[in-house]
Amino acid sequence: MRLIIFGPPGSGKGTYSSILKEKLGIEKISTGDIFRAEVKKQSELGKKVESYLKQGLLVPDEIVIEVVKKIIDEKKDNFILDGFPRTVNQAEWLINYIKIDAIIKINVHDEILIEKISGRRVCSNPNCDGNYNITDIDKVIDGIHYKLPSLLPKNDMICDKCGSKLIQRDDDRPEIVRERLKVYYQQTKPVEEYLRKKGLYFVEIWANREPKFIAEEIISKLSNR
Ligand code: AMP
Repeated sequence: MRLIIFGPPGSGKGTYSSILKEKLGIEKISTGDIFRAEVKKQSELGKKVESYLKQGLLVPDEIVIEVVKKIIDEKKDNFILDGFPRTVNQAEWLINYIKIDAIIKINVHDEILIEKISGRRVCSNPNCDGNYNITDIDKVIDGIHYKLPSLLPKNDMICDKCGSKLIQRDDDRPEIVRERLKVYYQQTKPVEEYLRKKGLYFVEIWANREPKFIAEEIISKLSNR
C-alpha cells in the first residue's frame, strides 16, 4: 500500500505512521527524520538543510524530491510518507511519479497543537524513532473532546526503545512552532486542495484520542475502502 499521512506539525503524524509501519508492515518515510539524522551526522546533505530546519522553513523542493525519489525507488510498493509532500510542486511531482492509494488527513485544533508540541520529547539517537509527550490534555473545543494523556517513558527522560537520552527538538520551541504553523497554512495546506482536486482518496481522522486508537481507526477506514 502507498500512503501519505498529512496534517499540521505536531498532529501526531510521526507517531501514527510508526504504529502503521508495525501493523501494516510498510516502510515509514519521514523526510523530517531523514533531514534531522543528516544534520546530526553533518553530512553534505545535512549541512545544506541545517539552516532551514533551524528556522522552521521548508527545504527547497529539488533537494527534498531527490531524497524522496531515491527511497521510493527502493520501497516502491509499501510505504507511508510522513512530512512529504509539503508544497504543491512536491505533490505534483509525486502523483506523476507513482500512484498513491490513500491520504490520511489528520485534523486537530491549533491550540492543542501548540500544547502538544511543547510537551514533545524525542530520542536523541538518530537511528531510533522513540517519541514521547509530557503534556496531559483533557478538554473540549468546538464539540471535539480531546483526551490525550501524556506518553511518558518508563524511566525518567530515557528512551524505552534504546536507552538513549530524551530531548526536546530545537524546532519544537514556541517561536519556531509558530513559524512552522505559518508555513503549514501558507504552503502546505494548499497541497490538500490540490490532491483533492486531483481526485485522490482521503481518509479523515480527528487526533483527539490516544495514538493506538487513532491508528486502529485509520486501519479500519483503509480496509473499508
Ligand atoms: P517535520 O519533522 O516533518 O516537521 O520536518 C522538520 C523540518 O524538516 C521542516 O520544518 C522542514 O524544515 C524540513 N522538511 C521536512 N519535510 C520537508 C518537505 N517535504 N519539504 C520541505 N522541507 C521539509
